[in-house]
Amino acid sequence: MNQAQPIALDTSRALNLYDLTQPELVELMKRWGQPAFRAKQVWTQLYRNLAPSFDAMTDLPAALRERLKAEAQLGVLQLTREQTADDGDTRKVLWQLPDGNVLESVLMLYPDRATICISTQSGCAMGCVFCATGRMGLLRNLTPGQIVEQVLYFARGLRNNTFDATSRHDHITNLVFMGMGEPFANYERWWASVERLHDPQGFNLGARNLTVSTVGLVPGIRRLANEKLPINLAISLHAPNDELRSALMPVNKKYPIAELMAATREYIELTHRRVSFEYVLLQGQNDEVEHAEQLADLIQGMLCHVNLIPWNPVLGAPLQRSHRKRIQQFQQVLLERGIGCTVRMERGVAIAAACGQLAAVPQST
Ligand code: SAH
Ligand code: SF4
Repeated sequence: MNQAQPIALDTSRALNLYDLTQPELVELMKRWGQPAFRAKQVWTQLYRNLAPSFDAMTDLPAALRERLKAEAQLGVLQLTREQTADDGDTRKVLWQLPDGNVLESVLMLYPDRATICISTQSGCAMGCVFCATGRMGLLRNLTPGQIVEQVLYFARGLRNNTFDATSRHDHITNLVFMGMGEPFANYERWWASVERLHDPQGFNLGARNLTVSTVGLVPGIRRLANEKLPINLAISLHAPNDELRSALMPVNKKYPIAELMAATREYIELTHRRVSFEYVLLQGQNDEVEHAEQLADLIQGMLCHVNLIPWNPVLGAPLQRSHRKRIQQFQQVLLERGIGCTVRMERGVAIAAACGQLAAVPQST
């Protein structure tokens, strides 16, 4: 029997190789009596060759492949449903974790980029009233390996051209952590996945092509400001005053707007990077001209951009998307105040793959 000390995060079952850092893999190979260069070979297979199985790692000795097969896993996510929309340019995948909990990821192909939207948790504890994931509650934090696996699936499909789509791409150009969950509520594991995906000897995704979206967890914003990798930050604001924001987003009671803005200003000062504010427009709730003016007062002069998001329907939520005219008016106010502002193009509404529609239960029939 193998008496070795477990080194993966989830030690209850076979080791998920994607959970290991490079030093941990070096350690494992050493413990298995392999020569030093073996870890590099395996790493290359995992993150450069995107090997779909241990058998595909043909440069490894057969005995090592057998041992890996017996004692390790190449990912633990089980693909349970895959849906496409927009002529194949939007692809949503539902995954099951070994414990039965679920999560989703989405690929969105555009003429000039291939963007993936990745989950960091199964469900979410934050309870925003407009969000399908918020209604699930938090089921599980994902491990770094489980976050990375979602990415590798799409990377493989693009490289091998197995997705039927109108736009042709052979690699992922952009990654947004805007799927299920609040990344900063699972900070260490989420950040480990960022490092793994960025690693120039591995998957090599540029930090500037990564964006994290947060509900506004102030400690996470402060932490990110001090990280070395310059990834992009998006902040879900959604309301320009505390009363309204607390009604839509319970987290505002803990981190009210003044505190959130102070942390954001510090972040900008420290990193000199532009932040995005996300603002979901809900008819009759937060979409009046007066709200746009308040928002402009709040952020004027900051190095920022506003992303207006027409609300995507969530089954059972007593809310409505703002009318197109309201959206235009809102945008106009911000533009006139000199604030960069775009309306987010929607994708995959028909398969509930759009922002905030990701949830275990089908959102449409
Ligand atoms: N938890 C993080 C990231 C995931 S949500 C966050 O809240 O920022 C990604 C974005 O989708 C957030 O800006 C979120 O507010 C928005 N969103 C949630 N539900 C939505 C819905 N039904 N329609 C449009 N956007 C939604
Ligand atoms: Fe969680 Fe983000 Fe949804 Fe709020 S919007 S419930 S933080 S996933």
